[in-house]
Amino acid sequence: MTRTSAAELQPQALRHDWKREEIRAIYHQPLLELLFQAQQIHRQFHRPGEVQLCRLLSIKTGGCPEDCAYCPQSAHYHTEVRPGALMSVEEVRRAAEKARSEGATRFCMGAAWREVRDGRDFENVLAMVRDVASLGMEVCCTLGMLNEHQARRLAEAGLTAYNHNLDTSPEYYGAIITTRRYEDRLRTLEYVRRAGISVCCGGIIGMGESDEDRVGLLHQLASMNPHPESVPINSLVRVEGTPLGEAEPTDPLTLARTIAAARILMPASRVRLSAGRRSLSRESAALCFMAGANSIFFGEKLLTTPNPGRDEDELLFRDLGLRAMSRV
Ligand code: SF4
Repeated sequence: MTRTSAAELQPQALRHDWKREEIRAIYHQPLLELLFQAQQIHRQFHRPGEVQLCRLLSIKTGGCPEDCAYCPQSAHYHTEVRPGALMSVEEVRRAAEKARSEGATRFCMGAAWREVRDGRDFENVLAMVRDVASLGMEVCCTLGMLNEHQARRLAEAGLTAYNHNLDTSPEYYGAIITTRRYEDRLRTLEYVRRAGISVCCGGIIGMGESDEDRVGLLHQLASMNPHPESVPINSLVRVEGTPLGEAEPTDPLTLARTIAAARILMPASRVRLSAGRRSLSRESAALCFMAGANSIFFGEKLLTTPNPGRDEDELLFRDLGLRAMSRV
């Protein structure tokens, strides 16, 4: 197997022409070597020990017509999630103010929609974006597929970033979602880019995919030019009633390996240790920060699934000597 050293990587740090075999070679290195390289690169591009705190709020929960096999909000599965209407602009503003007072510098709003439809709900989301932006926070939305005009309107409202995950490799995508295609995702991402909004795009580990699928996902992300500014790496939260409710638990070392490879491939991006933190030990979380994760969601709920409590995170930050990233 080819060994790639950090020194070799340095001059080409922001590359977009990665070949799959290069990514495979990086990903499959001995874990400690991989972590060491990732940490070296992390320190060239980011302040060590600094982690961005983001808050994610579900502004419209459940009843989604898509069939993502991991998602309790899909109307295709029987889960405990009860569909609700879009929250009011006022409620969202209050939630954003609270998140800000607790140290969040980024506020993300998620709606369980297949795609954005023009009309009253979209106008309300635009008002929410304007409100959150006026609080001086980064503002991010995840609303499903967008057309070009909608992307432009979100940009005009002050949207910082749009989240649209690729989830897994193109080859494995059809095993997870059948109601839309990989190309649909890429098209929305293209509209987001063209509108001048930054891209938040990553995937999920632990859905029964192979190492090669994780390499394939990383290849897609690292080939984007520019790279997604934010790369959420989620670990599957197994929810009863979804097709992946009984999946094998994710190996935290695989999560750390994927994060480290993402850090090496996309050195300037914020790599977010996202869903699934609740089932990570403190030691596994530490390994993920060592691997180059420098952003988390904090707050007890992540859309509809549990997340570590604030006290737990404060203790973890104290014990690891991590600091919350200051205001944007
Ligand atoms: S992940 Fe998003 S698009 Fe897929 S079912 Fe859940 S809410 Fe719908």
